[in-house]
Amino acid sequence: MASGRKKVSVIGAGNVGATVAFHVAQQGYADIVLLDLPDDLTLERPRKTESFARGKALDLNQVSPIVGYDARVKGTSNYADTANSDVVVITSGRPRSPGMSREDLLAVNADSVASVAAQAAEQSPDAVFVVVSNPLDAMCHVALKASGLPSSRVIGQAGVLDTTRYRNEISVAVGVSVEDVQAYVLGGHGDQMVPVRSLTTVGGIPVQKFVDNGRITADQLQKIEDDTRQGGGILTGLIGTSAWYAPGVATAEMVEAILLDRRRILASTVLLDGEYGVSGLYFGVPVLLGAEGALEIFDLTKLASLTDIELAGIEESAQKVQSTVDALKQLGKL
Ligand code: NAD
Repeated sequence: MASGRKKVSVIGAGNVGATVAFHVAQQGYADIVLLDLPDDLTLERPRKTESFARGKALDLNQVSPIVGYDARVKGTSNYADTANSDVVVITSGRPRSPGMSREDLLAVNADSVASVAAQAAEQSPDAVFVVVSNPLDAMCHVALKASGLPSSRVIGQAGVLDTTRYRNEISVAVGVSVEDVQAYVLGGHGDQMVPVRSLTTVGGIPVQKFVDNGRITADQLQKIEDDTRQGGGILTGLIGTSAWYAPGVATAEMVEAILLDRRRILASTVLLDGEYGVSGLYFGVPVLLGAEGALEIFDLTKLASLTDIELAGIEESAQKVQSTVDALKQLGKL
């Protein structure tokens, strides 16, 4: 029997997709469809079969009596099961291996994301799509084109993850709760991303003050920002594949903001139209998220006093994203 709960479909039941499903299920406000289709690439990896998503869903349902959620998870390889979703999350495709850049996944993931976005949009034309697959900014362009949806309903997840990595390291260095560190990491989801130091606060106090009073050193803060930019690569080197707990929960935070129309302002990847001096490019910026998707984009180059270093970083990051999108066009995939 169908429940009255909202519906979230997660395409790709791998590490990130299953983590999104688990976290959303625990909140209890939505049922989840987990769809996985092993393709030629994933068949190289022996654990993937047609039954993979069904197995993941069964596992997620079997934990529900202990955790105490009523949300149901359905595993499938059939797009009809995703029909009328409120939110569709795309995590399908290959993750990085050690030594790979996100851009190395460009050709391999573009076809998968295009086919996923087209089929999912056919079933759920009113849904908001959250793209996670890498290289993130370029895959948002692919999903936008293949889905035919308005850009306000095709949004990428990167900034929530990059920001939580930054906040975590600052909280450890300063010795305060993670809850009291507020920050933004903006730009493309690559090594040129921009931790916005001038807007980073600890208990409402600019983080720079903690350098000025000797609580942390300038070198420490610089290393935190460098490690944030390299965060994905560091984890891939340690684990052997992409991380999934923080990426999955970061994605679930966006899903919640949309599903519950919370009007959260979260660093999200959206199609810019002149903001930040950038047009026609997906880029990570603060966005008001609600039931209709991206409701408003905040242009910090106008609303805040960013430093010259931050402004130059944003420009460099935008150039990098543009070059990846150009490469996608040269491959004939956009
Ligand atoms: P994974 O290999 O564990 O899972 C990917 C799943 O996608 C596999 O189960 C595979 O069978 C499935 N799949 C492949 N092609 C498909 C298709 N056409 N239709 C349906 N399912 C398909 O990988 P992961 O660690 O979960 O990472 C998933 C993606 O997310 C990667 O591209 C990774 O780089 C990216 N990622 C993004 C962020 C971010 O912040 N945006 C963070 C981490 C990972």
